[in-house]
Amino acid sequence: MYCVIVHLEREARIRVGGLGLLAFAPGVYVYTGRAARGLWARLARHLRRRKPKRWHVDYLLACRWARPIGVIVIPGDAARECLVNQCVMAVADGDVPAFGASDCRSACRSHLAYFAPGGLTRDFTAQ
Ligand SMILES: [Zn+2]
Repeated sequence: MYCVIVHLEREARIRVGGLGLLAFAPGVYVYTGRAARGLWARLARHLRRRKPKRWHVDYLLACRWARPIGVIVIPGDAARECLVNQCVMAVADGDVPAFGASDCRSACRSHLAYFAPGGLTRDFTAQ
């Protein structure tokens, strides 16, 4: 399983598949996903800007103001995805409801955590 960390430079309205048009505040987003097989191919795909949109995170990453700034890979049982997601959520400033959680087995409210500017983002945006 993995986390993709995305910096969103500006507020953006993004149409996210079945979730419709959502307003994303600027800040850092952490998407936690599971790839039971093909983990590296999945990550390479996430980091490619141009691709057909399949997962919710594809829509976020396609936004011109969004930039992937990091990836965390946790090898082993992909079932840890929700446990890690819930740990990230516990320290996050918020989440995007239902985002990435449509195939969640642990009834997570969301698999996209939000961190407001001024916290984690300060170091990234100072460049
Ligand atoms: Zn979950």
